[in-house]
Amino acid sequence: MVKEFFKSIKYLVFPNLCLACLKEPAGGEDLFCINCVYNLSISEMHLTKENQFTNRLIGIEGIETGAAYYLFYEGGAVGEILHKIKYTGRKDIAVVLGKVYGEKLVDSKYFQNIDYLVPVPLHRNRFRKRGFNQSEELCKGLSEGMEVEVETNNLIRIKDTPTQTKLSKSERQKNLKGAFVVSNPERLEGKHVLLVDDVLTTGATIEMCTNVLRKINGIKISIVTLAIRVYQ
Ligand SMILES: [Zn+2]
Repeated sequence: MVKEFFKSIKYLVFPNLCLACLKEPAGGEDLFCINCVYNLSISEMHLTKENQFTNRLIGIEGIETGAAYYLFYEGGAVGEILHKIKYTGRKDIAVVLGKVYGEKLVDSKYFQNIDYLVPVPLHRNRFRKRGFNQSEELCKGLSEGMEVEVETNNLIRIKDTPTQTKLSKSERQKNLKGAFVVSNPERLEGKHVLLVDDVLTTGATIEMCTNVLRKINGIKISIVTLAIRVYQ
C-alpha cells in the first residue's frame, strides 16, 4: 500500500527527481536523493503532546497540541524544500509532503477527531502575486492523508505586512496586530481545528491567528507546520 503510494506520486508528479534539490534523481521509491535524505531531519513530535514545537508556543493560550514534520536547520535540505515551494512556484511539493505527513498524523492519538484544517491565510495582495497560498496547498495534501475537510476563507488576513524574515518576535507581533479576522465564527463553534502553516519560526503568526480563533465558543485549536526552524 505504502509502496504503491510512493510509486504513484513519483511517477505522476515528478518523475525521479528529488523533491528538495530537484536536481539529483530520487533513490529507488524515495522522494529525495541520497544527499538530501541525509540532510533531512524528520521529527516524531506528533507522538507527544508536549514537545519542541509546543515549547516554542508556551504562553499562547488555547492550544491543545502541535507538531512539525521536519526540523529545519540553517543550510539543510528542509530550507531547500521550503524555498522551492514558496519562491519557485512548486506548490505540488507542498501537496505531496502534506499527504505524507497527514498519513503519519492520523496514527497519533493527539490528532484524532479534527473537524477542519485551517490554513494560515495570505493577504489577498500576496496571494495574487504568488498565485497560491503554500499553507493551503499543504492543507490539500493533509486533507487527503487525514480525510479531514479544509476550511479556507474563514480565517482571513486583512492586513498586508512586508516580509518578516529579518524581524524579531516583538517586531513581528507589532506588525501582525489586527492582521487576522474570522469571517464566519459560527461554523467553527465547538470544533477542533488544525491550524496549518509551512514553517514555525518565532510563533508570532501562530499566536495572532490563535488569538482570534480562540474567541470562538467551544473551539479547540491544534497546530501543524511542515517544518520548525531550529536555532543553534
Ligand atoms: Zn536532493
